[in-house]
Amino acid sequence: LFIDQPLATGDQLKLEKAPSNYLVNVLRLNEGDEVILFNGQDGAFRATLVNGSKKAAQLEVAEQTSAQTPPSQIDYIFAPIKTARLDFMVQKATEMGVNALRPVQTQHTQMSRINYDRMRANAVEAAEQCEILNVPTVHEAQTLEKLIANWAETDPERKLIFADEETDVTDAAKALKPLGQSKVAVLIGPEGGFSEAERELLRAQSFCVPISLGPRILRADTAAIVALTLVQSNIGD
Ligand code: SAM
Repeated sequence: LFIDQPLATGDQLKLEKAPSNYLVNVLRLNEGDEVILFNGQDGAFRATLVNGSKKAAQLEVAEQTSAQTPPSQIDYIFAPIKTARLDFMVQKATEMGVNALRPVQTQHTQMSRINYDRMRANAVEAAEQCEILNVPTVHEAQTLEKLIANWAETDPERKLIFADEETDVTDAAKALKPLGQSKVAVLIGPEGGFSEAERELLRAQSFCVPISLGPRILRADTAAIVALTLVQSNIGD
């Protein structure tokens, strides 16, 4: 269970509302039962339910069961897509261990689809289900232009790998090889793809690396998995 507070052996945690309801009503834990807690910073801990009701629960934190694993260095940057597929994309990117989720506004994006609480909840749920200890940070959306303009100040050595079905770089592995173990971000466009102006802007940047994900056009949420797999298999992390 993800707990958004510090965790240490011997802590007495008082949970209310959703977390206590989840323990008592969803997991149907009884007093004395155990649960594994993590907060994305301190690793995972065994904890015992001291007492609980729908409204409140008290847990005693026991020993640490696993140390915090280092997060991947990959930031996943994406143009928001339709809600159900965005939920899926956020969950898969989280399962693949990305360090951050960065929504970006492009010409063919509907920003009304952005719901930060929903994205955070999907990331936490994916981390709980896959028992991974890192929950990616969900960043505020910014325009693609702003992201590119700020890149040099914020991430000078990070490479931005953008999947573009119109790139003539057909061998993604060859394009990725020279990056070695660089810090990278992966960018996937919206259902309608990048505009020509966005493609030119991206291709004009020295830190941008266009890659193809093959001859077929993939849905954005499929492209997310394929691109992250390609990058992780070629760059590690
Ligand atoms: N522009 C396409 C069109 O209008 O048919 C669709 C874009 S696709 C649904 C969404 C995103 O997935 C693209 O912007 C790109 O980032 C990525 N993508 C999909 N298929 C790809 C491929 N074969 N190679 C590289 N990127 C791809």
